[in-house]
Amino acid sequence: MADKSTFLPVPRVSKTRYSSLCSDDELLEEDSDLCYESMPEKRDVWIEDYSSLPSSQNSVYLPVTGRVSAQTAKADSTPQLTPVIKMGWLDKNPPQGSLIYQRRWVKLDADYLRYFDNDKEVYSKRIIPTSSITGVANVGDQKFEVVTHNRTFLFRAESDSERNEWVSVLQDMTGPARARVSSELTLNPMLTSEMRGYLELRGLRSKLYTVVCGDKVFLYKNTEDYKLGIGITSIDMNVGNVKDMDRRAFDLTTPYRIFSFIAETDQLKEQWVEAMRNSIAEALSNYEVAEQIWAEPANHKCADCGATKPEWAAINLCVVFCKRCAGQHRSLGPSISKVRSLKMDKKVWTNDLIQLFLALGNERANQFWAANVPPSEALSTCSSSEERRRFITAKYREGKYRRYHPLFGNQKELNNALCINVQSNDVCETLALVFCGADVNCDTGLPDAHSPIALAMNHGQPLQVEFLMQNRNTEIPRSETKLAVHAEHYMAPPSITHNGFLFKTASMARPITERKNKEEFSRRWCVLNDGNFNYYESDKNATPNGGLKMKEIVCLAVSPPETHGYDHSFEIYSDAERLYLFGTDNPETMREWVKSIAKSFIPQCAEELLQKDFERIGRLRYKDPLNLESSRVGWFCLVASTLHVCLEDGQGQETIHLQKLLELSRDNEVLVLVERGRTLYIEGERKLDFHGWAAAIERAAGSSGDTLSQQQLTEADIPVIVERCIHYITQYGLTSEGIYRKSGVNSKIAALLEAFRRDARSVWLKEGEQQVDDVSNVLKRFFRDIEEGLFGQQAHNWLSTTAVSDESRKVSQYQLLFNNMPRVNKATLRTLVNHLYCVQRFSEMNQMNLHNLAIVFGPTLFQTDGKDYNAGRVVEDLIQHYITIFHVNEQQLKRQLDEITYIIKLRDNLNPKTGPASGDFICTVYLEEKKETAEQHVKIPASMTAAELTFEILDRRKIAVKEKDYWCCFEVNDKEETERPLHYQERVLPILHSLGTDSHLLVKKHYSMEAMLVYLASKVDVTKHGMLKFREEKSLLGLTTGSFNDRYFMLNQTSLRLYKDVRSNRAEKEWPVKCLRVYQGIKKKLRPPTCWGLTVIYESEKTEKQEKQQWYLCCDTQTEMREWFATFLSIQHAGVLWPTEWVKSWAASRSAPLDTRLGNVSLIPLRGSENEMRNSVAAFTADPLALFGNL
Ligand SMILES: [Zn+2]
Repeated sequence: MADKSTFLPVPRVSKTRYSSLCSDDELLEEDSDLCYESMPEKRDVWIEDYSSLPSSQNSVYLPVTGRVSAQTAKADSTPQLTPVIKMGWLDKNPPQGSLIYQRRWVKLDADYLRYFDNDKEVYSKRIIPTSSITGVANVGDQKFEVVTHNRTFLFRAESDSERNEWVSVLQDMTGPARARVSSELTLNPMLTSEMRGYLELRGLRSKLYTVVCGDKVFLYKNTEDYKLGIGITSIDMNVGNVKDMDRRAFDLTTPYRIFSFIAETDQLKEQWVEAMRNSIAEALSNYEVAEQIWAEPANHKCADCGATKPEWAAINLCVVFCKRCAGQHRSLGPSISKVRSLKMDKKVWTNDLIQLFLALGNERANQFWAANVPPSEALSTCSSSEERRRFITAKYREGKYRRYHPLFGNQKELNNALCINVQSNDVCETLALVFCGADVNCDTGLPDAHSPIALAMNHGQPLQVEFLMQNRNTEIPRSETKLAVHAEHYMAPPSITHNGFLFKTASMARPITERKNKEEFSRRWCVLNDGNFNYYESDKNATPNGGLKMKEIVCLAVSPPETHGYDHSFEIYSDAERLYLFGTDNPETMREWVKSIAKSFIPQCAEELLQKDFERIGRLRYKDPLNLESSRVGWFCLVASTLHVCLEDGQGQETIHLQKLLELSRDNEVLVLVERGRTLYIEGERKLDFHGWAAAIERAAGSSGDTLSQQQLTEADIPVIVERCIHYITQYGLTSEGIYRKSGVNSKIAALLEAFRRDARSVWLKEGEQQVDDVSNVLKRFFRDIEEGLFGQQAHNWLSTTAVSDESRKVSQYQLLFNNMPRVNKATLRTLVNHLYCVQRFSEMNQMNLHNLAIVFGPTLFQTDGKDYNAGRVVEDLIQHYITIFHVNEQQLKRQLDEITYIIKLRDNLNPKTGPASGDFICTVYLEEKKETAEQHVKIPASMTAAELTFEILDRRKIAVKEKDYWCCFEVNDKEETERPLHYQERVLPILHSLGTDSHLLVKKHYSMEAMLVYLASKVDVTKHGMLKFREEKSLLGLTTGSFNDRYFMLNQTSLRLYKDVRSNRAEKEWPVKCLRVYQGIKKKLRPPTCWGLTVIYESEKTEKQEKQQWYLCCDTQTEMREWFATFLSIQHAGVLWPTEWVKSWAASRSAPLDTRLGNVSLIPLRGSENEMRNSVAAFTADPLALFGNL
């Protein structure tokens, strides 16, 4: 135990003062207005008189030797540690019969209202617990009264404004909310006193009721006052010392005063002495922790309001604060702020925790928590409870003022950074990471340390471990404003009760993938009541086997019938990542349970969802592209292929038709739903329920059945498969003889159909990969197999219409039938007939006239197997009267046909006789810039190299090539704002296949080639290292909001390595060079710090994993960038960036573009600089085939 003086500053003792107020036989003032004060001039007595004391006894003896004067009048100079909220001079009402007010120094803190003789006095004349104050009121003339249960204290301030301030502070302190906190936090002497009874205070001829309680001694006038809680003063025992005196006497000595007590008996004296000594011991031990925490000067003031000597702390947030702020911290709940007392919760204060508080401390913690506090919102020691509540909620629950970590919003990056950082001793950074969203429980991916906690342990970082442990279940701040409302809604409506038997398996931490047999379930009596769901051994048991709170439930999922041994089952997911499976054989029982449980955890704002016949309901975090910074909480419910959503900013419920999504992708912890007009990112806040949701949504977004409307649809309500096939045939099949009539390859058709069935959105038909006849047959087979057929229930009416002899009546009959078709059928029929109309318009080439098409499509669409002749007639009629029946805009149709004609012509020109050979690809290449006049359509044979393509284009345009003109073919990505010069040996066809729609090929001069060649020629060893600004983009969907950070890179013959800094001896990341594709440029949206950037794409070689990463490197100068780029190319192409005899090789390619291998051999530089020679020859010698790597 440390010397108390080191941690508890006490007033400096300058000299012992023989105080007049300690004079013998001093008269006690009258306190109550029932009594009279006869000696009003005696202002500076310590203890006021009490009505019960006979006037002859109105004196108190306080030994003169024991009194020292307090030099400073400040609140923090007293041993009282509770922060003072307000203090000042007030006049107390005169005792009855007197007209003279008594001037008193009045102090208010969270627990007590006290008044003192003067501002130097340590021990009060009156101490009134704020919890016993029942009312505070203005009574005019600068006066106000403080009402307790049976006594009213009247004060007068110096001005009305001063009075109003007192009243408002007091009212705020004693309001209903305050009372609750106070009862929680204030020691109630009635309950915990260790010793109490009458003691005589020497000199005072009446006995005082004395209570030893915890680390304090309270003095009361009598038992009645004690019961009312209104005392004279309290003595903090941490500065006390007890001296045994003669017989029944003993002294309690403090630096400010000596209290000489006389017990009633010898025996009692012993008890008193012991009780007081225990109290001192307790007080001192209580200060042990506080003393250590306060050793860090920043911890000397409340982190929130600045009050001195804060005695409370949030052990997860690592801030120390005062009692008043503690009340507000408490109300945030332990998942946000784990409030502990420095004095009372001794057990939690392990050495590591204390060290953590010293390492962080209020100052450093506030550099994070309070980095952006507007002065208007800052607290002061006199802030009201309401102001505190607002501020503390904003600060810790919403994280409003926090310093955003640069990785904020990038979950994966944050987690990575956390894993790296916990190996160091930088707890500040860990605090910033965790409270910006890094997952304390994330998977490190390391076999020997699965979690950051384990990692920190392995690296001997006890403070990191301590911090992480304290934050294992912390809710990270969320900036959403509506959260408070949500939090209220987490409370289950207590009215929902339900009970009955269910069968339950053990709860688990991973998804259920296999069937659970009946044996794995146990019968449990389940009770849903008062916001809790508990299960018991039987309905006779009083103690539950387990259970969970409704507000812990994040998702409820109904399994399809017969999934498990019990036919009907449902799963409950908790926010602690547990999954509970319940089953029953009775569908009714299950429905009731599902309904009751859902009702009790779905908030009011999302209660519309409860009306749905959902298979899954719960809350998820989401982001939208307008606000990627912060994610919000939404309530989701899945019904068949529709996702109903109650978003925070939305007006009520919205629906997302999953089968009509433009895109649905899942990137580890994010599910991206792209609809027309909006993109929704659903985040995996918790793994378990997120994976359940993701799988269910993916399933629901696929085709849900065999009817037309159950397919994945385009926005126009046409099945994706129909649209893709028609598009393909229009592009490549209109001139194909016997299209739709010729049969394709059966196995290929089946495989393609299957692929469409699995996920139509992911099937892209490409020329060269698919044959037109296979695709045409896929379309036919789709219509032949679709349940209910394209014409549905009305098929017979369509068929009978053919019998109508009057043409115009027949047409209007068709129109009527068409108009009455279901939405999807209608759109599909229209599209199909439009297509067939176009096909027959080109029947000169494809031989498929109206009649031929009708023969093929009649039985297909009506699924009649050719038995009904009328089927063909209908199709014939529809095509023939296409314009009338479907109200076609003829202008539009003409434009469509013109387009098709153009396509056909174009293809004809390119392939005059034979048509494109299998695998050939026709593509558009631009010369010098992307504009229509610079367009060239080139047939790309599989063997064509970039050099050959370049020659071809230049040749067509009759462009003469000079020696130093480095004409090159670039792959340009408009959207990414990047470009990449193809290596002259690179084959073009694979590049074309990988090009997105926003990319194109462009032939232009490569202006930095010369500089790159010069640079490489100057190097003996083709490696490079240095600092680059690095930014990673894990999600390719633009979701990440990372930033550029300095990293050290090393590029050598085999790999590119990333180091955290120059001194790191272990690479953080490493990529094989051959798997990297490097582009010049970085899209501006990412705000690269310089304009000399490289975009790097890494594609893992393992085909089964298909990992693709994209990241960015930024150089400080153009030269730097060129050097890096040249080094990449040189390594990837074995030192040969450019053929030395460019013009010669061009000429050669014109005459004999035969075997590219031969062509390449001649490209080994036979002249050139020494280095060039050496590099090339060395590479060739080492691996002669390396030069053909791209072939
Ligand atoms: Zn405070």
